[in-house]
Amino acid sequence: MRLKYRAGPARRYGLGKHQALDVFIGLFYAATAKQHPLALILIAKGRITCPKNTDKQIKDSIEKLCKPFDDQYWLDRDTDGEFPEDFCRALADDGWLGICMPEDVGGSGLGISEAAVMVQTIAESGAANGGVSSVAIPLFGVNPIAVFGTEEQKQRMLPPVMRRDDIPCFGVTEPNTGLDTTRLKTEAILQGDHYVVHGQKVWTSTAQVSNKIMLIARTKPESETKRPIDGLTLFYTDLDRSTCEIRRIEKMGRKCVDSNQLFIDGLKIPVEDRIGEEGKGFRYLLHGLNPERVLIASGLVGLGRAALKRAVTYAGEREVFGRPIGQNQSVQHPLAESWIELEAANLMVFRAAAAYDNGEDAGAYANAAKYFAAEATFKACQQAVMTHGGMGYAKEYHVERYLRECMIHRLAPISPQLILCFIAEKVLGLAKSY
Ligand SMILES: Cc1cc2nc3c(=O)[nH]c(=O)nc-3n(C[C@H](O)[C@H](O)[C@H](O)COP(=O)(O)OP(=O)(O)OC[C@H]3O[C@@H](n4cnc5c(N)ncnc54)[C@H](O)[C@@H]3O)c2cc1C
Repeated sequence: MRLKYRAGPARRYGLGKHQALDVFIGLFYAATAKQHPLALILIAKGRITCPKNTDKQIKDSIEKLCKPFDDQYWLDRDTDGEFPEDFCRALADDGWLGICMPEDVGGSGLGISEAAVMVQTIAESGAANGGVSSVAIPLFGVNPIAVFGTEEQKQRMLPPVMRRDDIPCFGVTEPNTGLDTTRLKTEAILQGDHYVVHGQKVWTSTAQVSNKIMLIARTKPESETKRPIDGLTLFYTDLDRSTCEIRRIEKMGRKCVDSNQLFIDGLKIPVEDRIGEEGKGFRYLLHGLNPERVLIASGLVGLGRAALKRAVTYAGEREVFGRPIGQNQSVQHPLAESWIELEAANLMVFRAAAAYDNGEDAGAYANAAKYFAAEATFKACQQAVMTHGGMGYAKEYHVERYLRECMIHRLAPISPQLILCFIAEKVLGLAKSY
């Protein structure tokens, strides 16, 4: 793992690049009366805290932060559909939304490995997919700005996202192109110092509460480009409700984090809100896909573990035929299998995260981790419902919510079929099939 100077939440624990810096930060925190025990330990040891400890500290802190947002909180949000803004705000107030943002804009500059620990802990707390996806776009959706934006754009766009003054949504998927994203139809026409956009997006999550959108649109017709992806341009701009109609989609699960149809009719985007060069937007998006897959997979492992924990508790407590149901091998074995599969998925998640953080090509590992975590978590959630018998169908046991929520990432942002196509082509060298 890279060793970097770390700000934000990590700084609180004095993690740093050099021993001296660690000591300095430790002293600073001790001196500013925070007197955090970790800071004092750091001064005493005068050394870099090892990555394992970093992960543990992130996990402990996030667990603590998630405690007030318990199962009942998420069940209530699943019932009333209210956006979990108080949860997002708690994360933002403690600096967590900047965990993998660059340090020069006030982020922590940590890697995807650490962000993966964070989202996994959120999901495992029982917040499940609702909790993770309420902050997913601020965490990794704005990544193209950090990587491809100008200095002015980074300073203007990223700090408000970290503070949660701005709430971005992500407009890529369109109703008529599906997974064939290079064929996107939404059009942005340059008129003087701004673009004018017409088109449609679908499934745009969090648009009900967002004031910003990361939008990809065609600036050159497909017929005029060598390859379809060459005519696509990326923007980060105001989600202007006078030109964008937003219609909520009623869906199977994750009711509190809305997904929407977006009808764009004359949205004006100033040229200074274009990210990078015209026509390169799809390539910029591709860059962010691997971290997205890793974080989704990590959240899935957390969700699977939450389901497994509930199943094991119930199996130990519920007595039928004069003994706990968990004493029967037919109840035990599927749960044991799920544990093995979730741990294997977890290894894949952190293998992929390490590849990305080390600057290696993480595509195969990131996709494989997302595939395997989604399947393992689906199996764990399904088995958790079955273990509860009839009570698995009752909302108060939460496992039916977990099962509904885990389905989202079996389907999205990429389907298992398309991952298999990708692995077959890119890893095994077979002919492209899609
Ligand atoms: C809850 C939720 C939230 C979402 N949030 C967002 C968001 O915030 N922003 C955003 O832009 N998008 C979002 N999405 C969209 C999501 O990324 C897409 O649903 C996903 O990419 C799949 O596209 P599609 O639904 O059009 O499937 P389609 O492309 O229509 O595919 C349908 C099925 O056909 C299969 N298929 C298609 N072509 C092939 C082939 N060549 N070989 C084998 N199988 C194939 C697929 O595997 C899939 O099973 C969200 C989706 C959901 C469900």
